[in-house]
Amino acid sequence: MPIHPLATVKSQLQLERNQRAARWRDVPDQDWNDWKWQMKNRLSSYQELADLLHLTPDEEEGIRAEGRFRLDITPYFASLLDPDDPTCPLRRQVIPTAQELQPFTAEMEDSLAEDRHSPVPGLVHRYPDRVLMLVTTQCASYCRYCTRSRIVGDPEQNFRPEEYRAQLDYLRNTPQVRDVLLSGGDPLVLAPKVLEGLLTELRAIPHIEVIRIGTRVPVFLPQRITQDLCDMLERFHPLWVNIHFNHPKEITPEVADACGRLAKAGIPLGSQSVLLAGINDHPVVMTKLMHELVKIRVRPYYIYQCDLVHGAGHFRTTVAKGIEIIEALRGHTSGYAVPTYVIDAPGGGGKVPVGPQYIISQAPGTTVVRNFEGYIASYLEPEDYRGPDMAVPPQWVRTEPGQSGVSGLLRGDALAIAPEGFDGTHQRGGRPHRLNRDAKKWAPKGFGTPLAEQAESETSQQG
Ligand code: SF4
Repeated sequence: MPIHPLATVKSQLQLERNQRAARWRDVPDQDWNDWKWQMKNRLSSYQELADLLHLTPDEEEGIRAEGRFRLDITPYFASLLDPDDPTCPLRRQVIPTAQELQPFTAEMEDSLAEDRHSPVPGLVHRYPDRVLMLVTTQCASYCRYCTRSRIVGDPEQNFRPEEYRAQLDYLRNTPQVRDVLLSGGDPLVLAPKVLEGLLTELRAIPHIEVIRIGTRVPVFLPQRITQDLCDMLERFHPLWVNIHFNHPKEITPEVADACGRLAKAGIPLGSQSVLLAGINDHPVVMTKLMHELVKIRVRPYYIYQCDLVHGAGHFRTTVAKGIEIIEALRGHTSGYAVPTYVIDAPGGGGKVPVGPQYIISQAPGTTVVRNFEGYIASYLEPEDYRGPDMAVPPQWVRTEPGQSGVSGLLRGDALAIAPEGFDGTHQRGGRPHRLNRDAKKWAPKGFGTPLAEQAESETSQQG
């Protein structure tokens, strides 16, 4: 790909403290550092953006488009955008372009089927022991590739007190949930009392061990990470915060201070990044981001493949690009600077880790691996290993109704996982007969026999 004719190195570089575009130079520090002032003075109109940036025709069309995804940018973040270089990675994340309007094959409104996997509005229960709890549709600024653009930014879609109550009731009545991730929108733009109230209710549920907050506020609005907020959050430990970062330029001294305050409050910090064409789809850029995150005590957690969501088509990359980036990280830098690259499986399959292959070959007793340099070695496995022999406390065994998956196959719960309708398809409409009536012939000896029991019950139902 040739370099864009207007691309500059300058637009990629990290900036000094207290950047302010000309229009805000005279704003008193007290206002500038007040998160409510920042929220109130966000930019959203064509004219405000045209005064700030030399807009390209593509950007003009995107900004003026009817029905486009919500646009709001805090003065703080707007001051980080390069006014002359449309390839500025921060500018590309928040300024609409005409490409945003282009539909693409396989795009969806809700590509992760979150709303389909919600027992109550805003509560997505996809994995066995944890849930996603959407608590607001509002954000400090809006990312053009937002995976929840179907609701995010729309005040009409915001969650009502009775919906919070339904979410909390579901959690109280579902003891298998031990981890709740608050997200949205951005939970850290909620009114402080509302956020504190939700955290108090969650902490009162005995089986909820961990609360997490997913946020981009430290990046768009570091002024919100006040000492008061940190003191409040600290009361709800164990509480973890995962911050959405996409480019090293997002890490300003103000952001570093905000993360420092959260870390000092004892909050473990992680990051998640979306792999985005033209923003961070380069091994050098992504490596720099991971290094800058570790310096501010944020542990890189996930890189996401961009979802199949309307509006994000022009940001999508190949999966090979993500694997190339992980290849450039693993072994070349500290393990804790290497996140897991995942595809969030369309249709609600959840996060699937993908990455380079390190096992070259295997034979009984030997596994051949390669390292990041291409060094290939065989690891000789023990001949007398027979598995663990400790007595595991039964109360530690967690039940995962219907979701034991491949781990369940390894444990011997069943011999196969079949797609819905598998047996019916293979019966080809035939009637039970003398050769297929006896389900015992398919009972695997020595296994838990759910498959056999299932076959037996299906035969008796037909017969
Ligand atoms: S901060 Fe998160 S929820 Fe808000 S617009 Fe960006 S990606 Fe969407």
